[in-house]
Amino acid sequence: MAQPVLEWQAGTVTAIRPETRQTKSFTLALPKWMAHRPGQHYDIRLTAPDGYQTERSYSIASPPERIGELELTVERIPDGEVSPYLHDVLVPGDQLEVRGPIGGYFVWDVALGGPLMLIGGGSGVVPLMAMLRHRAAQHAAIPARMLYSSRTAGDVIYRDELDRLAGSDRAFEVFYTFTRQPPADWTGYRRRIDATMLSEVIKPFDRRARVYVCGPTLLVEAVANVLIEMEVPTEQIRTERFGPTGA
Ligand SMILES: Cc1cc2nc3c(=O)[nH]c(=O)nc-3n(C[C@H](O)[C@H](O)[C@H](O)COP(=O)(O)OP(=O)(O)OC[C@H]3O[C@@H](n4cnc5c(N)ncnc54)[C@H](O)[C@@H]3O)c2cc1C
Repeated sequence: MAQPVLEWQAGTVTAIRPETRQTKSFTLALPKWMAHRPGQHYDIRLTAPDGYQTERSYSIASPPERIGELELTVERIPDGEVSPYLHDVLVPGDQLEVRGPIGGYFVWDVALGGPLMLIGGGSGVVPLMAMLRHRAAQHAAIPARMLYSSRTAGDVIYRDELDRLAGSDRAFEVFYTFTRQPPADWTGYRRRIDATMLSEVIKPFDRRARVYVCGPTLLVEAVANVLIEMEVPTEQIRTERFGPTGA
């Protein structure tokens, strides 16, 4: 289905919150706010004094139940053009040109049902968090599991919120894996996501799961291949690639 033409609008930064050493969440108040579907993103456009413009996409972290504003969570890519600007220059009160919500494929809402299997690497957890926040806001008991790959303990975005959610909601479980430095005394997974790990985590849902995979290209491709080998029907798998490197 064709998407309506979306206009650029100036959002006002109302809050900036550090999530990890490399990630921050930005709250924007939008004059022309529209309800989004969890998984969708906004484009951000920066314009230099000489008129040079550049755009990047950022997934919406907040649920559509948060009316009038949206939250984005951005990882700082050290040699990047846009993410260091957002991290190092932007302050509350500033305006930011945005356009959205965009995307109709990598989306989930409670009407689609479950069971829901979310697989994320690094900042790929952002659109998955919007799905979980929406599920929680709707008090939906749809069974959901998340498998989240990070480099180190300090790189896990939304750790407290995920653990709180898992502790208070019997239908939700979160599984972490660490590819470099796990927390001290860690007894869980400590490697890249592979076929054994994925089949252990997805087991209770079997091939019925609706699976959303988001993160670095290498992770997304590896996971998608395993899911196909596991004979999860392709129409139940949705993927989104954020960037070139692996977690
Ligand atoms: C649909 C969509 C949603 C996205 N949502 C998010 C989000 O919620 N949060 C978020 O932080 N990012 C997200 N991204 C990635 C984001 O759009 C930018 O690519 C990222 O912020 C880098 O932009 P930059 O201008 O800082 O770096 P650039 O100047 O574009 O790149 C600088 C260098 O970093 C490399 N690079 C680019 N992106 C990445 C990356 N993600 N990881 C590692 N290296 C990279 C480039 O190859 C290049 O070498 C999303 C991308 C897409 C397509």
